[in-house]
Amino acid sequence: MAVSDHVDLPTFMEGVKKRNPYQPEFVQAVQEVAEDIFEFIQDKEEYHAQQILRRIAEPDRVVSFRVCWEDDNGNVRVQRGWRVQNNNAIGPYKGGIRFHPSVTESVLKFLAFEQTFKNALTGLPMGGGKGGSNFNPKGKSVREIMRFCQSFMTELYRHIGADIDVPAGDIGVGGREIGYMFGQYKRITNNFTGVLTGKGLEWGGSLIRTEATGYGAVYFLANMLATKGEDLNGKTAVISGSGNVATHAAEKIVQLGGKVLTLSDSGGYIHDPDGIDQEKIDWVKTHKTHRRGRIEEYVEAYPRATFHAGKTPWGVPCDVALPCATQNELLGDDARTLIANGCKAVSEGANMPTDLEGVHVFKAAKILYAPGKASNAGGVAVSGLEMSQNSERRSWKEEELQQMLKDIMAGIHKSCLAYGDQGGGYIDYVKGANIAGFKKVADAMLAFGVV
Ligand code: GLU
Repeated sequence: MAVSDHVDLPTFMEGVKKRNPYQPEFVQAVQEVAEDIFEFIQDKEEYHAQQILRRIAEPDRVVSFRVCWEDDNGNVRVQRGWRVQNNNAIGPYKGGIRFHPSVTESVLKFLAFEQTFKNALTGLPMGGGKGGSNFNPKGKSVREIMRFCQSFMTELYRHIGADIDVPAGDIGVGGREIGYMFGQYKRITNNFTGVLTGKGLEWGGSLIRTEATGYGAVYFLANMLATKGEDLNGKTAVISGSGNVATHAAEKIVQLGGKVLTLSDSGGYIHDPDGIDQEKIDWVKTHKTHRRGRIEEYVEAYPRATFHAGKTPWGVPCDVALPCATQNELLGDDARTLIANGCKAVSEGANMPTDLEGVHVFKAAKILYAPGKASNAGGVAVSGLEMSQNSERRSWKEEELQQMLKDIMAGIHKSCLAYGDQGGGYIDYVKGANIAGFKKVADAMLAFGVV
């Protein structure tokens, strides 16, 4: 039998770059995974022969569509919508929908690729997908958001289904938007089904879905610290973002005895030397979610805090850091600053918040560093539990779900140890997550043959 062409990593990446021009985020995500997978499959002929990595890095399909809507002044507006169905080897496509002006096909392809590994790590039967639009919800009226969501779903509905592809929220898409999209789906299809997750509790949603991503990132952090005999009690934390992930990460840090020093948004970061306690976190939640305000207004409510316009918070000395805003928000120099200031652990709440240089800096310094695909998997994990509850047509209790989330995060941590333990007390969580996620999807793909 002919032996497959064993291309090396640089040649493989050349091909990825050539086939995906002008898609830097996607190429970056593939490179981060390929660096570890090439080492892992070195002596595993079947993965090479069946071109498994090449196939995972080629989405099953990318659907692109026009979304027309009318603004409050009667102007016709045109946006682009996408759904990237990356891989369904182990379950229906699953992943959020992002509404943000920075959304491009490259961004959604990177997110769908990452989601494939993340979902595999949860141990639940979910494939990887992602969708969204370059629609900017900022400054839009509630009616405009509703009309946009309805128009988006009017095209998307034909591509999704409870056993086909199950979208959820992401940046710019929360409970309100899921409501508008679910309402439109139901109106078109007459089908009340678990086709979206992140739903309201009255109409098929799951308890703790809102909290799950942020809480999960802190559970993962606690698992990492425990390998060094440490916990979060008394530790200082720097967090970026001020949305759902960041505020719930902050909440769990506070519950576990830590002190949160920062939060941020695209305008800059706030530093509160007294610590952002539960009352202040509640203020931020209301301010950002209900009043749709900016984080800089925090210093008016809490004058001992300072606002740093146009800056990220990585220069504030801390024990642990949680990037919970967006991709590439923590660069190589930020990583060096964190380490120089004594940061011991980084747990990513966002997807790919650290750029490739930053990842290499964290790895070289051998600190406890968890990539988003492992540490932020709690959100999609509870989405998976929401799907199970919808299939069973029942709701599980909060205590049951809290325990399941903790167990799933501990399970992901264990999978990372299985493939990332480098000896001498160093665990490469990036490598562990990449290999564990890859192996599950790859083995399923092998069973299906060339499809
Ligand atoms: N957008 C979230 C993520 O990045 C959640 C996806 C979901 O619940 O399907 O994992």
